[in-house]
Amino acid sequence: MKLKIKSFIALVLISTINLRAYANPEIKIYPESVKQGEQIFIELDTNESEQKLDNLLVEINDKYFPLINIGNHYKCFIAISPELKVGEYSVKILNQQKETIALKTINVTLTKTGSQNISYSSPILTKAQKEIIKQEDQLVEKAKFTFSEKQLWNKPFVLPVPHKVTALYGIKRYLNGKYNGYHTGVDFASPMGYAVKAINNGNIILAEYFSKYNSNGNLIYVDHGLGVGSVYLHLSKIVVKQGEYVKQGQIIGYIGSSGRSTGPHIHWGVYLNGQNTDGLGWTKLTNKLF
Ligand SMILES: [Zn+2]
Repeated sequence: MKLKIKSFIALVLISTINLRAYANPEIKIYPESVKQGEQIFIELDTNESEQKLDNLLVEINDKYFPLINIGNHYKCFIAISPELKVGEYSVKILNQQKETIALKTINVTLTKTGSQNISYSSPILTKAQKEIIKQEDQLVEKAKFTFSEKQLWNKPFVLPVPHKVTALYGIKRYLNGKYNGYHTGVDFASPMGYAVKAINNGNIILAEYFSKYNSNGNLIYVDHGLGVGSVYLHLSKIVVKQGEYVKQGQIIGYIGSSGRSTGPHIHWGVYLNGQNTDGLGWTKLTNKLF
């Protein structure tokens, strides 16, 4: 009997310890039910009496994202991949020792996407041209992971142009009938020479006239801080420079048809911690949040 009481006490103690670990700090996720390809916003408030928690991470499905610390407040925006399977996922907050200090569940729901075939005759490239394209593409990859921890905006995000959408984010793309991955941005049918505006305040990370055969064409990459970035492709003219700070609505370039493009248009993309996400959903989410 004594042994039973002892184990009961031990059990209560363990439960209390677990409860303490999970009861504090408080985690908020918005929305808790999210569509594939859309985004969630995570906020964490720690008790003031607690010591500051450094290098907190969010873990979802074995992927890790940094929580940015602002006072006793932590923030993180996460892009849910359009390829993540529908279902329930644990969102864990991990401390430096990789221990779970907060836990919540999100529900990932289905996004129905169409498909699109593009007929395009790919040019035959020399080894030197391929090498140049590779280096240019590496600059873009690097840009996606270059961000200030400071939130550089204080207003919801807007669209870069006011035109008709011709290809949604996430649609399955076929190039001459062969699957070429999902569409990583939103295409707008904008007229040649139309002004493209920055979707929010930020720093210009890339503003490049790429080589003739680079599929992106001439592009601009903007860092908005807190892991948020935006990209503008196929431009005819760029009017900003790398390192420059731009304000929301500022003209950064003009519509073109450079790169792999069958006519004047813009491919606009939003990135969260390096992962592409639906820009239309992102503007809606930030309108609800701020
Ligand atoms: Zn596109």
